[in-house]
Amino acid sequence: MAPISLLVVLLMSCSFNHHQLQLVLANNPFDQDFSYMKSVHNINGEEEIGSSNYNNNYYDYIIIGGGTAGCPLAATLSENYSVLVLERGNAPQSHPTVFTLAGFFSDLQKQDDGTTPFQSFTSKDGVGNRRGRVLGGSSMINGGFYSRADDEFFAKSGVEWEMDLVEKAYEWVEESVVSTHPRLDVWQSSMREALLEAGVGPDNGFSLNHKVGTKTSGSLFDQFGTRHGAVQLLNRANLDNLRVVVQATVDRIIFDSTTTEPSSSSKPSAIGVKYSDSKGKSHKAFLRRKGEIILSAGAIGSPQLLLLSGIGPQSQHPNVGKFMADNPMNIINILLPNSSMEPSITKVVGINDNYFIEPVIFQPQLNMTSGSLAEKIPGPLSIGSLWLANSTDVKVTPNVRFNYFDNPIDLSRCVMGMRKIGEMLETEAMNQFKHNGELLFSGPSLPNNNSNNWEWESFCRTTVGTFYHYHGGCVVGKVVDGDFNVMGIKSVRVVDGSTFNISPGTNPQATLMMLGTLGLRCWEKGQENDELAS
Ligand SMILES: Cc1cc2nc3c(=O)[nH]c(=O)nc-3n(C[C@H](O)[C@H](O)[C@H](O)COP(=O)(O)OP(=O)(O)OC[C@H]3O[C@@H](n4cnc5c(N)ncnc54)[C@H](O)[C@@H]3O)c2cc1C
Repeated sequence: MAPISLLVVLLMSCSFNHHQLQLVLANNPFDQDFSYMKSVHNINGEEEIGSSNYNNNYYDYIIIGGGTAGCPLAATLSENYSVLVLERGNAPQSHPTVFTLAGFFSDLQKQDDGTTPFQSFTSKDGVGNRRGRVLGGSSMINGGFYSRADDEFFAKSGVEWEMDLVEKAYEWVEESVVSTHPRLDVWQSSMREALLEAGVGPDNGFSLNHKVGTKTSGSLFDQFGTRHGAVQLLNRANLDNLRVVVQATVDRIIFDSTTTEPSSSSKPSAIGVKYSDSKGKSHKAFLRRKGEIILSAGAIGSPQLLLLSGIGPQSQHPNVGKFMADNPMNIINILLPNSSMEPSITKVVGINDNYFIEPVIFQPQLNMTSGSLAEKIPGPLSIGSLWLANSTDVKVTPNVRFNYFDNPIDLSRCVMGMRKIGEMLETEAMNQFKHNGELLFSGPSLPNNNSNNWEWESFCRTTVGTFYHYHGGCVVGKVVDGDFNVMGIKSVRVVDGSTFNISPGTNPQATLMMLGTLGLRCWEKGQENDELAS
């Protein structure tokens, strides 16, 4: 990894102003292209850091949330339209840890103090969870593992995908931010062997595609451990058409009042948004004629904002916040005899129709290092809901309950996956991790009694955690149509993980970036597509 100068770290830990930006660009230690900063403005600063002057307060598109889907969406829409992105978090340079693998692990140990690049929340199921609060969204705080969606996702998503455009959009993302030459460390390569020995075949080598068997896939972390998140896709924008405002929290969508009166026969029509800076000062931005608001605030933020804007059960939109789901994660942590093993991030996955298995290793703590084997089930079929905890304040995280394992099929899939992990523990590949011939565990070990299904089910229920792949709340066919328009509302779309009825593939971010990239290409079918078609 490239050395990080102390000066740059100090500068990067502060919020940006123009002078600091110049210094950081001159001392860029992360092999990042910060060209997009030309369009980034911090409304809290006395002086704005961006030098692009697109600011007449009327836009063709206002994107709420500069996250995993929002950034590529802004990039592609700005080719032909004026675009405003409003992002509640700061520029990623204010959080230097987001750029490195070491920073990913250290952030995982941190508490949310309101300034961290992630926001913590705990679902009503009692499971701790996180979401991004930084330009680039959750792609800046996640594990970086990149794998495309499975066929079932495309078949069941409720969207008529044009698969040649989907392919080009994936490729557009991959050539920009995805490392496709993974170096497998000891833990990843050993778990690859263990998966194959345990019969999770065939060996699919390296592939970005979803394939049953064992494969190595791409990562947002390059071979130096540097993250290239969705924010870098903004570099492919027409920066003269783009204005990104950070530390701008959208409070609600503004509707044309004549369309929201009970006597009105027209659909409620959005005309702009109201947002606040971090000092609480209120601002507004408006749409040009035929413009659109696009919610890309994530699976928690988008349904929350619709509800706060009056789009919910009270206005004949009963499904806003419904069909929320989170793929349960169950994990075992194996204490490693060699505590100096290098930190490892997921690059390998075992794929079966009923479960996915991913190896992760956590950084040493208290002189102990543990390697983890985590299991996730596809789908899931268990669903929950989201509802407001505060009916006016967007900063108060809404309540959400995922009802993990409510559906017995989810539970049986978890048991199948954990039993497979049990088989992996018996393989020769695991011998090197034994202490005097035995594997030792940090936290719960797998049930001893293989024939007692109840014990395995109980293991799944009591050790349930999250892979952070929660989705739903504005699901296609329930809240938005197949072109991502909010049904019954004019000029509002949702483009993010809240529209998914199942999580795509083993890990969702590839498909979220693809979806953002497709953007207009998807909605304006047949339109000449300059970049993707070339
Ligand atoms: C710790 C962790 C590890 C993960 N690991 C992986 C992995 O290895 N591979 C993978 O594929 N997926 C992974 N994921 C999941 C993946 O990152 C997310 O599913 C995906 O990034 C979500 O994308 P999104 O566009 O829906 O939302 P986000 O990327 O979260 O974007 C939403 C954006 O909206 C902003 N926002 C929200 N509300 C407002 C508001 N009112 N006003 C203005 N802005 C707002 C947020 O700050 C955020 O930037 C992980 C997630 C986490 C949290």
